[in-house]
Amino acid sequence: MKRSLDKGGFGTPVDLGFCVSRLPGKPVLAFILVFCCLFLPVGSPAADTTEEAYAAQRENMVARQIEDRGISDPGVLGAMRAVKRHEFVPESLRGSAYADHPLPIGEGQTISQPYIVALMTEGIRPKPHMKVLEIGTGSGYQAAILAELCESVYSIEIVESLGRRAEKLLRGLYPNVHVRIGDGYQGWREEAPFDAILVTCAPAKVPRPLEEQLREGGRMVIPVGESWVQELVVLTKRNGRLERQEIIPVRFVPMVDAKGRKY
Ligand code: SAH
Repeated sequence: MKRSLDKGGFGTPVDLGFCVSRLPGKPVLAFILVFCCLFLPVGSPAADTTEEAYAAQRENMVARQIEDRGISDPGVLGAMRAVKRHEFVPESLRGSAYADHPLPIGEGQTISQPYIVALMTEGIRPKPHMKVLEIGTGSGYQAAILAELCESVYSIEIVESLGRRAEKLLRGLYPNVHVRIGDGYQGWREEAPFDAILVTCAPAKVPRPLEEQLREGGRMVIPVGESWVQELVVLTKRNGRLERQEIIPVRFVPMVDAKGRKY
């Protein structure tokens, strides 16, 4: 193999192949440089380029992390392409917004890995007429994905600072998202029943109020388990009872009450 750039360590001659012979001579290079500098519009397309770069990263995220792993619902794929995940992560972490892992969002909480967001969203079988309850607003990213696909989203967050920040961000983007600060274990009784419930923090057992607030025929996607590794399950309400289907082992932050005690 002749073209082995990646094998060239320090002091190792690297074969640049034909590229060298295509470079213009020094005077020509200098001219091009000066010409470019003269006509570079000041302070322009940097922001645009960044948005384009994020869009490319988003496409790549959907293809490699989500489609390649078997998510096929066109609506879910479309929503994952549409929502600007980088706007939901802290500014200092935007460069990693489309990476294949969760990220910290402050207050010891995290925004889920993109694949898990897509998997959970597909799990509720989203339809345009649906009214959905989310427990654990966090950054607001999952709520935004749901808002792209469903008529209305009711999202509850127990950490006030996170909930307020997400609410502010979502207000301008998705008027069909309603955020409440409170204990999601209790659900949102005044707005029940819900066509689907998506829980992004893990209780040891499925909360009874959530079970009651799920419409007949509705689906709930929830991580359940006492330890740091839980099982992601899909529960379908049939004749008032929940049918349980286990999906994959996952790791979510625990569901806690107002005093920080784990459910
Ligand atoms: N869906 C979020 C990820 C949230 S991480 C996103 O897209 O970014 C889980 C969130 O659940 C945390 O923000 C945590 O504060 C919240 N949480 C934990 N227990 C809760 C409870 N009882 N009620 C509501 N939110 C809770």
